[in-house]
Amino acid sequence: MSLIVQKYGGSSLSSPERIKEVARRIARTRKKGNKVVVVVSAMGDTTDELLKLASQVSLNPPKRELDLLLSSGEIISSALLSMALHSLGEKAVALNGSQGGIITNEVHTRARIQRIEVERILKELEKDKIVVVAGFQGVTSENVITTLGRGGSDLTAVALAAALKVKLCEIYTDVEGVYTADPQIVPEARKLRRISYEEMLELASSGAKVIHLRAVEVAQKYKIKLHIRSSFSEKEGTIVE
Ligand code: ADP
Ligand code: ASP
Ligand code: MG
Repeated sequence: MSLIVQKYGGSSLSSPERIKEVARRIARTRKKGNKVVVVVSAMGDTTDELLKLASQVSLNPPKRELDLLLSSGEIISSALLSMALHSLGEKAVALNGSQGGIITNEVHTRARIQRIEVERILKELEKDKIVVVAGFQGVTSENVITTLGRGGSDLTAVALAAALKVKLCEIYTDVEGVYTADPQIVPEARKLRRISYEEMLELASSGAKVIHLRAVEVAQKYKIKLHIRSSFSEKEGTIVE
């Protein structure tokens, strides 16, 4: 039995229907005999909406409270996805970043992961549960909630794969892989079957938000293969290795 880490981005979880569809996909992975850890982003534009709400009550929101607020988006997704899995008859448990053992430094809104305490996740996996972890967030050793910077759920997924010693991390998104340019802007962009970490780092640092730059750095460091693919189709995506 192998352990797979899958991450679903906000566009893959933008409605209750989409959450149910993702739950069905995860259940299929489970039925093939795999153990699964899932990392989720906030639904659709939730993070932008939360930022807007904050700006409507404060000109300069305290960063501690901003992080607490933003972390709620991913918590909603994790709870809903776990519920959807339960209604398919799967055993699942949702964990926020703190419960998932993601320990960060104190730099609010762009915290760095310092270590991951995997005991809780391992215990849940032993109980045969699908573990759904809220991405993009962590907790300091002083028990203060932090977030990892925009797009940070990718980093949660890859860092968890590293901590769990998993060699493959699947990143599910709204395009079929990594293209030579943003396919939503450049229709003639070409999908790449395979790309090296170095090339992916270059693309990510020139603004291709299909995957977070730090996530690629961590994947390269721990030699984790990434499969960036669509949650809307069964097609093979792009392997980053
Ligand atoms: P998610 O919600 O799954 O995290 P993002 O919106 O963060 O998804 O990233 C996916 C988006 O990245 C795509 O919809 C696409 O517009 C954009 N993108 C930018 N550059 C590229 C590229 N070179 N290849 C693929 N997608 C790209
Ligand atoms: N929800 C956060 C964002 O919109 C994190 C993520 O999607 O990865 O930036
Ligand atoms: Mg993203």
